[in-house]
Amino acid sequence: MSSTDDLLKNNEAFMARIHREIPPGPPTMRIAIVACMDARLHLAGALGLREGEAHVIRNAGGIVTDDVIRSLMMSQRFLGTREIMLVHHTDCGMCRPSDAAVEEAIREQVGMPPPFPIGTFSDVDEDVRRSMARIVESPFIQYKDQIRGFVYLVETGGMREVWR
Ligand code: ZN
Repeated sequence: MSSTDDLLKNNEAFMARIHREIPPGPPTMRIAIVACMDARLHLAGALGLREGEAHVIRNAGGIVTDDVIRSLMMSQRFLGTREIMLVHHTDCGMCRPSDAAVEEAIREQVGMPPPFPIGTFSDVDEDVRRSMARIVESPFIQYKDQIRGFVYLVETGGMREVWR
């Protein structure tokens, strides 16, 4: 039994348990959240999010890449969101190695360096500010007056605001 099999079993129980109206596709809270993929960052639990309420865009570090801009563009321009929340966190795996170290390890394992930027960082607050600057500078993001950046504290479950 793999973890995927375990999760599919959970899904069967979920389907048997839920009786609800299907929420509309556009997020009812009109917000998009960009966050790190870290398994300890349980956004639904930490923020009280329910299905249908928000777009959640996640990657390693919660950094604002071209693909995150693509998702935010679709979210705002076609699905009605007006706010953006960016969430990095303490003890992030992207904080440990340098880009050069990751590229060297990948080059050894794969035979070539990755064609995309790695996006590691040494200061989580600084990276929140750098990611927010990418959002502010992007012409594809339409609504920028309600964008806020946070560091989630894995130790306490709290949110520390870094950028507003
Ligand atoms: Zn992380």
